[in-house]
Amino acid sequence: MDGGLARVLVACPFNDAALKTLLRGDINVDYRPTMSQQELDQVYTDYDALVVRGNLRVRPLKGKGSLKVIVRAGAGLDNIAVEEFEKLGVKVFNTPDAVAESVGELVIGLMISLSRGVFKAASALCRGEWLKHGLMGQELSGKTLGIIGFGRIGHVVAKIAHAIGMRILVYDIVKFPEEELRLYGAEQVSLEKLLSESDYVSVHTPLTGETRNMLGERELRAMKRTAYLINTARGHIVDQEALKNALKEGWIAGAALDVFSEEPPKDLELLSIPNLIPTPHIGAQTREAQERASFEAAGILVRELKGS
Ligand code: NAD
Repeated sequence: MDGGLARVLVACPFNDAALKTLLRGDINVDYRPTMSQQELDQVYTDYDALVVRGNLRVRPLKGKGSLKVIVRAGAGLDNIAVEEFEKLGVKVFNTPDAVAESVGELVIGLMISLSRGVFKAASALCRGEWLKHGLMGQELSGKTLGIIGFGRIGHVVAKIAHAIGMRILVYDIVKFPEEELRLYGAEQVSLEKLLSESDYVSVHTPLTGETRNMLGERELRAMKRTAYLINTARGHIVDQEALKNALKEGWIAGAALDVFSEEPPKDLELLSIPNLIPTPHIGAQTREAQERASFEAAGILVRELKGS
């Protein structure tokens, strides 16, 4: 800026049409979707704005340089040193609305996969084993779903689960009005009640000091032995060691994890537990979510850099 064109580094895959809206906005774009952490750390100060996803960490290692804006195309901001950058006068944005539908749909898919043994059945058949009679599943309809964190994604999960015919319990630090809960046939309850009555527990809080290890041994033991846990939020919200014991010793029936305390996870003991479905952080990996995230990110950049 300051006389020249604003320079933006897009250090993640980005929708073509959204990229063109940046170029049309007289913004000088450096598109480097496969940039490494080391490269980013070296060059980030040369740009007015950065766009990243969750795979690169953005830290003010060399101060802020020319940087004015950072946009995380997607939801979680835990890979960005938000407070440190804000103290330096750099604005940080994300696009959480863009990905909520995709994550919510994945949760329902994982619930069905857990209930019907889809993962186990498919892997056995690939080895030539026809497991049909060993796999007696259950329907979601009529079961109770506990949603921990009733924000954007929690709402999407509740909307679909309600349509399937599930009873919905919600636990959140924010108190929701009865009219809003009624739209989903939901009841807001204590964490204890949610854990003890739910057949499925799905986690949708951000990772904060309060939610780190929020589900540990005590909470997992408070769940029904027939219940399933689904975590698509952040790995550190569930105590991974306690979860391993819960799955191996049968405190709960099974779990699906899209997120891990370390990504990619190196804990082969966890990954080899038969009643666990692990997925490689694919919650927002849909064409629609990525397209919406790119357009929202482009809109933020044009507004912040060009004031329109
Ligand atoms: P959101 O901010 O819209 O909602 C979070 C909700 O959690 C809010 O209602 C908030 O009040 C509640 N909450 C905060 N602290 C709490 C606490 N201590 N106890 C109970 N409730 C608490 O967030 P969102 O967009 O719905 O995202 C939810 C989670 O999903 C985040 O962790 C996000 O990083 C993660 N996520 C994962 C993927 C993926 O690819 N798997 C994609 C997007 C988001």
